[in-house]
Amino acid sequence: MPEPSYAVELSPPDIEPYRAGNTGIDYVTSLESGQPGQHVLVTALTHGNEICGAIALDRLFRAELRPRRGKLTLVFDNVAAYHSFDHRMPTASRFVDEDFNRLWSPATLDGARRSVELARARALRPVVESADFLLDIHSMQYATAPLMLAGTLDRSLALARRVGIPELIMCDAGHAAGPRMRDYGGFGDPASAKTALLIEAGQHWERRAAEVATDVMLRFLMAVGTLSGDDAAPLGARDFAAHPAQRVIHVTEAVTITGAAFEFVQDFRGLEVLPHKGTLIGRDNGREVRTPYDDCVLIMPSRRLVKGQTAVRLGRYAE
Ligand SMILES: [Zn+2]
Repeated sequence: MPEPSYAVELSPPDIEPYRAGNTGIDYVTSLESGQPGQHVLVTALTHGNEICGAIALDRLFRAELRPRRGKLTLVFDNVAAYHSFDHRMPTASRFVDEDFNRLWSPATLDGARRSVELARARALRPVVESADFLLDIHSMQYATAPLMLAGTLDRSLALARRVGIPELIMCDAGHAAGPRMRDYGGFGDPASAKTALLIEAGQHWERRAAEVATDVMLRFLMAVGTLSGDDAAPLGARDFAAHPAQRVIHVTEAVTITGAAFEFVQDFRGLEVLPHKGTLIGRDNGREVRTPYDDCVLIMPSRRLVKGQTAVRLGRYAE
């Protein structure tokens, strides 16, 4: 398949001013309102090359806003990977040793294995565990519509609707390769009230992704009561006040690569709707992968076609 080439329209911001923070953990800053309320966490650079989230946090820091209640914590996650970002090889800095967003189980975090990302996840674990709300900001390989990833719990879907943007909300269970931060602990527990969202703001390096990341972050902070509309509006971009009719995609399965050679039969980019059940979408070591039902939506087909990783997720629009 031809590799699409995307212009790198975004510049990685200098995050050195945020290194010291105020929590004793590098690149972690907590802002206290002095009022009772919940602990709200916004994270960027879970993947080091997804710079729109760093731009959104940088804008928020520069605005010097204070939370209206509770506590707001802002975190740059995989800074080691981010610091290796090179605009000539922008895909290379997703992680250093392994994917930071596949490590979030007690077994892995408490285990003996070591990596750059595990060290960072272990350092950030108490912050994540103390948060009541989390927004984790990401971007995608292909330029498709932004997606809010709401996990499988009703309360996360309800929060995605209160945020109100983007138009598409995806409900999914994650990846076979390991659990995501947004599903960790109380965030994935049906009995907890803790609630997490993950935004895929657009293509990694398109200017629009930084606008979407900023607007979604602001709308999230309004939805959880951290900021007022008047606080947030001056930072908002084009979709800041939008109220699109939101649509929900229920993911039914992640296609996990089982062999050494996976290939798609077409140059899928994501959000294609394949009308007929049984349509061939790829071959996993020769085994045919076909759509399991009519009107199957392909979500975030990957260009990292590696054994054990997710090749694509399959879902359908809710009525
Ligand atoms: Zn990501």
